[in-house]
Amino acid sequence: MITKEATYTQLKYRCLSCNTRFIICTETPELWSSNSTTCPDCSSIGYFIVWRETKEGEIIQDIPGNADLISVSA
Ligand SMILES: [Zn+2]
Repeated sequence: MITKEATYTQLKYRCLSCNTRFIICTETPELWSSNSTTCPDCSSIGYFIVWRETKEGEIIQDIPGNADLISVSA
């Protein structure tokens, strides 16, 4: 039996304005562009170094994974 293992993509950003690093987890990386991404710390747009990594498993294993819930937007 052939089973296809689930994968998703992590887009790893380093902001060139403030040096913040953050990760976007997505199943549709083709929809993301650094030109339209905003830094969560300094609000700079499109000024990043970006790396792409394919991860094994489902996104839900990492988001939320075992993390503690701290807020839900209204
Ligand atoms: Zn920044």
